[in-house]
Amino acid sequence: MAALILFGGGGDLAMRMLLPSLYFLEHDGLLPEGLKIIGAARSEETPDEYVAKVHAAVKARAETDRLWDEQSWSRMKARLDYLAVDATSADSLKGLKAKVGDDAVTSFLAVSPSLYARIVTAMKAAGLAERNARIVLEKPVGRDLKSFLEIDDAVAHAFREDQVFRIDHYLGKETVQNLIALRFGNTIFEPLWNNLTIDHVQITIGETVGVGDRWPYYDEYGALRDMLQNHMLQLLCLVAMEPPSDLDPDSVRNEKVKVLRSLRPITPDEAERVTVRGQYVAGVSEGKPVKGYDEERGEDSDTETFVAIRADIDNWRWAGVPFFMRTGKRLPEKRTEIVIQFKPVPHSIFDRDDRGEVQANRMVIELQPEEDISLTVMNKRPGLSQRMQLQPIKMSLSWGVDGKGDAPPRRRIAYERLLLDAMAGDSTLFVRRDEAEQAWRWVDEVAEAWAESGQKPHEYVAGTWGPDAADMLVARTGRDWNTADA
Ligand code: NAP
Repeated sequence: MAALILFGGGGDLAMRMLLPSLYFLEHDGLLPEGLKIIGAARSEETPDEYVAKVHAAVKARAETDRLWDEQSWSRMKARLDYLAVDATSADSLKGLKAKVGDDAVTSFLAVSPSLYARIVTAMKAAGLAERNARIVLEKPVGRDLKSFLEIDDAVAHAFREDQVFRIDHYLGKETVQNLIALRFGNTIFEPLWNNLTIDHVQITIGETVGVGDRWPYYDEYGALRDMLQNHMLQLLCLVAMEPPSDLDPDSVRNEKVKVLRSLRPITPDEAERVTVRGQYVAGVSEGKPVKGYDEERGEDSDTETFVAIRADIDNWRWAGVPFFMRTGKRLPEKRTEIVIQFKPVPHSIFDRDDRGEVQANRMVIELQPEEDISLTVMNKRPGLSQRMQLQPIKMSLSWGVDGKGDAPPRRRIAYERLLLDAMAGDSTLFVRRDEAEQAWRWVDEVAEAWAESGQKPHEYVAGTWGPDAADMLVARTGRDWNTADA
């Protein structure tokens, strides 16, 4: 038998993401037979009170997706249980151990990362870190390399590396996995996937939300540590890695870590040229006036709510190909995309007037708001014009155009895939210790370069695409950021 313990089972992440994900898996008949799901937090609640809370949260979400049905819920309800525990106390965890007995236990830490080290130590003492146990850790693990290693050493003391699942929920997205399929399941892209054909790569994660009352956490982290260290560098790795020899978790992660090791360090002298920090001031977001970050926080702060970086990967494949990354709060759109910009044709035989110009090919891997991979190619504008005229057309590579591929699935919560994989012990889509370590090392160098060079955030008005300096970062190289309708 198997059990899933949700430490922090009554918190925001659990109620908004994890429990709805488990409901959707239940709905699709994908949860392991006999799996128990146990919420564990300090609040003194009975299992019935907890089930009522889960019911409200899951139903609201499932109804939005039109997937609510009473039979699925009653199956899920039968699995649910709750125990009030202080997860940092081994004594308190003994009751939980008694509940799960010798079951194969997957524990998800949906609690503040500042508790991780104490919790894993208590778990080990309470017998919840046995050989068949697994632990799932949410980001952020640490705020720099030193604090990451402190937490991770405690984790390593309690669990073997193959029992540890560090989540980056971007890796659970269907399109991210499709990128792997596209690159390594076809012969036509890989020969072009290098500095001979690709001009540059862009990764954008735009959020429209502000920091709001999350500032006590955010002010310590900023966009660099909150988004770039994890999600953006993971996406960069999947674009840039060499073909792994197989899909074994370690084969894939060996290739990702090589990319991280090849990232050129950013020095204080270089920082101003290749990085931009930004912080939003009052503006209009999604049609409503919104406060600036300093006003939300109540006093001035140098924390960046926007970061743009030009990264260079020093290896044969990517020499000379810049990877531009940008992410921020209070941007005009909630949009996540990777753009692979190919080089222009070396010599155009077509007219250069507006309608005939040859545009370079572009692949856009869109993760939000929709999930899709598209490729823009040039073709002939139909008609009898004496002069050949070209037009760009955008082809979807995700769902096919001949109607023979599987229909687009409903949009799953990324945690659905990741919860299933963690319970099955498949760590391909999770971050290995040395990856996280290397990502922190690079990000620490950026943070140190900022501190040493005294680089402060530029202001940008809420509801815009960040400071002008971010446009300059790209424009200086003769390029520009992709726009949604390009
Ligand atoms: P949250 O809403 O504050 O929930 C924290 C939970 O932890 C509560 O259920 C709390 O319940 C419980 N808890 C606190 N101390 C505990 C202890 N000693 N023993 C057992 N339970 C304890 O936080 P959250 O937003 O869900 O975030 C949880 C984790 O997910 C964090 O690492 C966060 O960075 C990460 N995360 C969250 C999101 C999100 O969308 N929320 C997204 C990405 C990552 P009691 O007070 O009853 O103990």
